[in-house]
Amino acid sequence: MRRIIEPFRIKVVEPIRFTEPEEREAVLRAAGFNLFKVPSESVIIDLLTDSGTGAMSAQQWAGVMRGDESYAGSPSFERFEAAVKDITGFRHVIPTHQGRAAERILASTLVKAGDVVPNNTHFDTTRANIEAVGATALDLPCDESRDLFAPGDFKGNIHLEALDRTLHKFQGHVPFAMITVTNNGGGGQPVSMANIREASAICRRHGVPFYLDACRFAENAFFIRTREPGYRETPLLEIAREMFSYADGCTMSAKKDGLVNIGGFLCSNDDALTRQEEELLILTEGFPTYGGLAGRDLEAIAIGLYEALDLPYQEYRASSTSYLGENIVAAGIPVVQPPGGHAIYVDAGSMLPHIPASLYPGQALVIELYREGGIRTVEIGSVMFGKRDTETGAELPARFELVRLAIPRRVYTKSQIDYVVDVFRDLSARRDGIRGVRIVEQPQRLRHFSARFEPV
Ligand SMILES: *Cc1c(COP(=O)(O)O)cnc(C)c1O
Repeated sequence: MRRIIEPFRIKVVEPIRFTEPEEREAVLRAAGFNLFKVPSESVIIDLLTDSGTGAMSAQQWAGVMRGDESYAGSPSFERFEAAVKDITGFRHVIPTHQGRAAERILASTLVKAGDVVPNNTHFDTTRANIEAVGATALDLPCDESRDLFAPGDFKGNIHLEALDRTLHKFQGHVPFAMITVTNNGGGGQPVSMANIREASAICRRHGVPFYLDACRFAENAFFIRTREPGYRETPLLEIAREMFSYADGCTMSAKKDGLVNIGGFLCSNDDALTRQEEELLILTEGFPTYGGLAGRDLEAIAIGLYEALDLPYQEYRASSTSYLGENIVAAGIPVVQPPGGHAIYVDAGSMLPHIPASLYPGQALVIELYREGGIRTVEIGSVMFGKRDTETGAELPARFELVRLAIPRRVYTKSQIDYVVDVFRDLSARRDGIRGVRIVEQPQRLRHFSARFEPV
């Protein structure tokens, strides 16, 4: 089979500044060994996130120029609204400055203290927004997701029986249930159409609204097309429409499959709820025809949502992500299987078995990747998801100690990805000498953004 090449050529370039090991050591110390505090000019390959880091197309930049910045009645809003409605089919669309603003508005209007919100796996900001109003964010991943290395087409699925049980048990206290596509917190694994359809039916039986966290809806649609029987010939747009047809609403970070650098939205079919949400929107985000965004941002989203559903683009994206995964595995590094849509997840727990969860093997690997090659990644393990037992004060580790290599959309070339593989090969050779870290300073919530660490 011929190799799949990037389905674009480069029109604008950004220089990368190369750093030496001594400089990186100083940068790490100054940042308290937290890569969120490292200046991007000191990063060679930035795989911290695929959020808002994509390259926009010539068409999107043309849309930016066309943006109409009128406070009310902007045609840019109309084009944005038409695109979102065309793809999702929802009756109401509220623009927000990013995904978490949509989550916060949804949590503040629908969720009360004592409520329970199930999800396949809550993303960190989704969890934080639900917990911020005093509710419980419950993860119900499918059984297949428990074995990190087992193959599986749809390891992002929600556990349907557990969902049904949860809705029984907490009857009257579940304001909505959610499925995150693809499952970011669960290895970037896709969710099948059958699972979405069945979860929706369960929610309907219990009279509970069903939402999609739609950040990577287009990548999920591509996985459905390639892996689920019956969709081999279906256009991605049609698959996306069917996914959304089972939901009562969605939250969206357009910084992912909107292929833009900022933006998001909140959708619903509920008229009364939307009115409440718009009141809150005006309070914190802006008027309902711009919601914290500029007209030019709305134009770029309207175009980007369709570009994300372009088949050659998704073929290239999936194959380049799995190329990185396969080559890291060839270097002897354990990687969550199969490769996720937007990222490769390295299992730092089994790569560094001599570091206990209490000394954060994931964070240790993140630090070494930067030290060795100026590569920035993020820990998805006990730093991000560890919980403190409220009674004993002891820390409960996360289920897995992962490091995520998120791939920005349309940004890095194959030779840059090959460099990342080279760095992994060098690290693999000296893995036994890698040491753990201790947290020396941390905030109450979302500690991974600002905690300071110290090598032990
Ligand atoms: C990024 C993300 C969010 C939050 O979106 P922001 O635009 O970063 O606020 C929510 N859910 C998932 C699954 C995400 O990946």
